Amino acid sequence: MIRATVPIIALVITLAALAEQPPKKPIPAADYIGSQRGELPIILSAPHGGTKRLPDVPERQGVGIPKGGSGFSIAFDSNTDLLLLEFAAAIQTKFGKKPYYVFAKFSRRFVDANRPPEIAYESPLTKPLYEAYHDALALHCRDVKKAFGTGLLLDIHGQGSARDTIFRGTQNGKTVSLLRERFGDKAHTGPKSFFGLLATREFKVHPTDADAKERAGFTGGHIVQKYGSRNYAIDAIQLECGFDYRDKTKLKDVARRMADAIHEYAGLYLKADAVNAK
Ligand SMILES: [Zn+2]
Repeated sequence: MIRATVPIIALVITLAALAEQPPKKPIPAADYIGSQRGELPIILSAPHGGTKRLPDVPERQGVGIPKGGSGFSIAFDSNTDLLLLEFAAAIQTKFGKKPYYVFAKFSRRFVDANRPPEIAYESPLTKPLYEAYHDALALHCRDVKKAFGTGLLLDIHGQGSARDTIFRGTQNGKTVSLLRERFGDKAHTGPKSFFGLLATREFKVHPTDADAKERAGFTGGHIVQKYGSRNYAIDAIQLECGFDYRDKTKLKDVARRMADAIHEYAGLYLKADAVNAK
């Protein structure tokens, strides 16, 4: 009897101690994520440009998680949030209609929206932020599919290995499989592909040759893999932008040229009649 009573007393003391702690307030997702419902079959995402710290939440440590590649990283994609907003504004000017978007204001030190949930966050307090990012993105994708039957998601990132280059990430064509089925491989790799259209507007892009592989490390992460093609009827491309395309003094010009490229892309591949009708 005595042996059974001791653990019960310990349990009661533990529960009493827990009850005395003030409950931690849920983090208001709206303060840490920017989202816009749009009017075009174009969705922008930028998960790594946030700088906001979360009060009372420890930074992620990544203990036991492989580093680099598709593993653990806290690397910051500077100004990609600003590039997304300038790009959205330039699209609105060019089309007269708004694109959809989602971007992180939270720092990647706390949540990584471009990783599967098991390696994206560590504190249970940050789980709702991760889910809010993906709920918004999924909602936008479903909305676009319903209204237009197809769409393009551009996931915007920054890389430090070539400042004058934007690397394409589509898992070598997998995340744009719908586009390739409907319009052939030229819509993915040719001069009239999205990256081909960027190249004609003075962007240095990689890869350039039709049969060249995407650069290792920039082949497209969780977001383009999750939303690209199969599940949501959306084609998704990751853009890994060098600093020349994220420099604050150049953002407006970069965004205007990108919007011009996506306008031509929409005319070719995004049901121009639906785009004009909505
Ligand atoms: Zn990134």
